[in-house]
Amino acid sequence: MKFITRGIIIKRMPYRESSALCHCLSENHGKITIIASGCNKETSRFTGLLEPFNLLNLELNRSPKSEIFNLNNAGIVRGYLNNVNYQTNLLIHAAAELLMQIDFTEEEGEEFFYLLDSYCAYLHNSKYHPFLVFLRFTLRLFSLLGIPLNTSCSSCNKPEVSYFTTYNNGFLCLNCYSQTTSKTGFTENCSGSYQRVAEDREDYSGSTVPLSSETTEILRNIYRMDGIDRQLVTSPFIDDIKKIILMHFNSSFHKLFNLKSLKDYHV
Ligand SMILES: [Zn+2]
Repeated sequence: MKFITRGIIIKRMPYRESSALCHCLSENHGKITIIASGCNKETSRFTGLLEPFNLLNLELNRSPKSEIFNLNNAGIVRGYLNNVNYQTNLLIHAAAELLMQIDFTEEEGEEFFYLLDSYCAYLHNSKYHPFLVFLRFTLRLFSLLGIPLNTSCSSCNKPEVSYFTTYNNGFLCLNCYSQTTSKTGFTENCSGSYQRVAEDREDYSGSTVPLSSETTEILRNIYRMDGIDRQLVTSPFIDDIKKIILMHFNSSFHKLFNLKSLKDYHV
């Protein structure tokens, strides 16, 4: 059977002598695996096409019994890693890394394809700091997954938040945080962060991040990015956001997520 779809190559691996196996996020079929036969031969018409983060028009076929598609034809629409600096390259990989750890159906795949495609395109044109674009990507991703993360206080809705906690599944302002800690028996540990002394202490997903002042200020304005001073995008902010993204995923899906692409990311 023949299939026509757009797709973004996420990862390419050598396969047998001269072929490649590609993981791809497609518009019509969700996450798919494609075999490109003979694509590593010098004479292959696929030379240079199947590179990570190329957006392609794909013509595929698949036998009814197989999960894997064969590549008949491909045409490039856009190469999203062309003309981006190393740091932006890492942010593109980070978005795909998160998407590849999420289970979704073929039908749901379309939304995630559009999300990744528009995010990559936006990173090329945006006047905003690329890490802010990444943060907006993850907030949109959380919404699509049905685990929205409200950036104001989850208890009183005040826009200035001081903590992120998985016990509340969200942010808390200073005032609501103090009330929560006095009620539920949180305790301050020597590093200054807070953990609940309780039976579920082993639960990796349960913890609290005290937010840097930059994080507080950026979250207050994240939906009107013109109001954000680029100077606020600092290492403490980036560390806070990386932690919050992973904690929110871990506690929502009860498995450990990775964000290895951002290990070397810095401002
Ligand atoms: Zn509050």
